[in-house]
Amino acid sequence: MTMNKRKAEEAAVHSASWQEGWLQVKVPVPFSLKWVNSYLIPEQQGYTLIDPGLRTDEAINVWDAVLLRHGLHWKDITRIVLTHQHPDHYGLAGYVQERSGAPVFMTRGAHAYAISLWGEGSVFSQQLQSLYAEHGMPAALRAAIAENLETFVNMVSPQPEVTYFEAGSHMMLGGLSWLLIDAPGHANGQLCFYQKERQWMICGDQVLPDISPNVSFVPGEEGNPLKAFLNSLHELGQYGVKLAFPGHRDPFTDFQGRIAELRQHHEQRLDKMAAMLAEEPRSAYDVCEALFGSRLNGNAHQWRFAMSETLAHLVYLERNARITSVSVDGVYQYSAVTP
Ligand SMILES: [Zn+2]
Ligand SMILES: [Zn+2]
Repeated sequence: MTMNKRKAEEAAVHSASWQEGWLQVKVPVPFSLKWVNSYLIPEQQGYTLIDPGLRTDEAINVWDAVLLRHGLHWKDITRIVLTHQHPDHYGLAGYVQERSGAPVFMTRGAHAYAISLWGEGSVFSQQLQSLYAEHGMPAALRAAIAENLETFVNMVSPQPEVTYFEAGSHMMLGGLSWLLIDAPGHANGQLCFYQKERQWMICGDQVLPDISPNVSFVPGEEGNPLKAFLNSLHELGQYGVKLAFPGHRDPFTDFQGRIAELRQHHEQRLDKMAAMLAEEPRSAYDVCEALFGSRLNGNAHQWRFAMSETLAHLVYLERNARITSVSVDGVYQYSAVTP
């Protein structure tokens, strides 16, 4: 098969057209999520690109193929807009900026978090180590997680020059005005974009079909991330939405229904954890292992998500006085509060 034929086939698999010339590009990611959605929105001049993907050779090959198929060049990308700072959305932004010369828009909060993770002298990995140590994770698994985190530095390089935009303001995309909505919990500083006349929502990773968005307690996002997430879902549920453009899987219509499912999912998980802790006190690691361990197959990347998601739920329960914790030999043990 010739190079161009292969590219054309690749492009057909990886792109889909939506109304008003919007292009959904499925950019591959080497995780169980399979792909991240980029959206190319036609402008009077060129295209706005939402969330370019993770920087891997495979992702760049897909982009080359998709641009070729649609008769576009990197220079046709005139703006890069990031919903949030996670590497699968942000990682390729610097590369695309180099190829296109386009400005990269991101919130100040999201950018600060990206710098704290991948900027020079980052202490994030050490902080994560101590957090997981005091919640009972064995040293070997912590080391594997630290090693896995290292691999992300290349996948977000080069890092872009950023122009800030903020929640509460409006932005023109595809000739229409969009409201920027603060959507914390999955990633602090994340934005959703709402178009009132069309009733369209670009929702980043805040509301995903089929997947429950990860809600993590990690250094730099301490607070009560699950509370922030549930509050945000409640707020997003107030908008009339006919079509939602998510960061993963495909655009979908039942935005409200999906929000209701996600809220229910977290309520059930909270109840399950509280019930486990009513049986016996456990560390966060023990809870995580009991709930997710068999599905994680020792995969360090997935363990990090599962552990931080468990912590987010435990923090939520503790703030609601349903459980309590005490440090025993340097490891927090959680137990249920009997009403
Ligand atoms: Zn994300
Ligand atoms: Zn994502």
